[in-house]
Amino acid sequence: MKLLVTGGAGYIGSVCAARLLEAGNEVAVLDDLSTGHRDAVPDEAEFIEGDVAEQADAVLSRGFDGVLHFAAKSLVGESMQDPGKYWHGNVLTSVRLLDAMRTHGTPRLVFSSTAATYGEPEQVPITEDAPTRPTNTYGATKLAIDHAITSYAKAHGLAATSLRYFNVAGAFDRFGERHVTETHLIPLVLQVALGQREHVQIFGDDYPTSDGTCVRDYIHVTDLAEAHLLAVAAAKPGTHGIFNLGNGTGFSVRQVIDACREITGHDIPAKLAERRGGDPAVLVASSAAAQRELGWQPKHPDLATMVGDAWTFVAGRAGN
Ligand code: UDP
Repeated sequence: MKLLVTGGAGYIGSVCAARLLEAGNEVAVLDDLSTGHRDAVPDEAEFIEGDVAEQADAVLSRGFDGVLHFAAKSLVGESMQDPGKYWHGNVLTSVRLLDAMRTHGTPRLVFSSTAATYGEPEQVPITEDAPTRPTNTYGATKLAIDHAITSYAKAHGLAATSLRYFNVAGAFDRFGERHVTETHLIPLVLQVALGQREHVQIFGDDYPTSDGTCVRDYIHVTDLAEAHLLAVAAAKPGTHGIFNLGNGTGFSVRQVIDACREITGHDIPAKLAERRGGDPAVLVASSAAAQRELGWQPKHPDLATMVGDAWTFVAGRAGN
């Protein structure tokens, strides 16, 4: 298939673009490089530098079989301080993309949605029919896009799938996580091991979990990419499938830090800090629907593989 990957210079977009190419697809990447990196775009992909809202129409007029839409603003804290950036950058941009797809008859869409659409869960593991009550603007914008996709799919016959990611980790080949503003736990912990940071902070240890720290569901980025390949192939016209993607197993902040100590051989000092606002105690996905309907099965559910692959990636870049 001929596929457009928006945000293909970012972490998850670049891994998916690489896997789509390996699977024999033709890939064009559209990315404005606001947070992505030009050298993260796979060599075999065509690269178009530009804003999705501005370029989608011209690019899709060339004729594509589908779009994988990763391009987004994704910092929770920033979304609370500068919501306009998220409503414009995520929602308005995505609606422009949907309009361009409609104009040019692009039949398939796979959208990067998020566990943040659910907010504080009433029950774990979280299933797709759980209430969607996002606790931050980032999650609210992703949920709004999901609603827009549902209505475009119904009205205009789009074959759409939203994949709601939980905590993505690991790396694939030369593609990995390298945000300029890093807020995620595993990369921050690995920065301590690299000597780029003195210690890691643990945001609260008085949560109702086994060791008092927050529990999250980590998924290997290559397992996530596999779900995208399956979703592109399985999409049905006029329907919008929504699937959670996680391991179904949670790991606490302390377990993650311990795994990083083991893999890196560094002692990684950790200091207790205040709770971070808006953090639910436990976020664990039920991926039963993705397994049943997409035939998806995570192949690297163990934390050691995820941390090990992330470590190989960051240590390699740092020249260790
Ligand atoms: N966390 C932490 N210290 C950090 C960064 C994150 O204790 O320096 C915690 C955070 O409170 C959450 C978990 O690690 O419970 C995962 O956070 P991350 O930002 O990686 O992902 P999120 O679950 O927010 O999407």
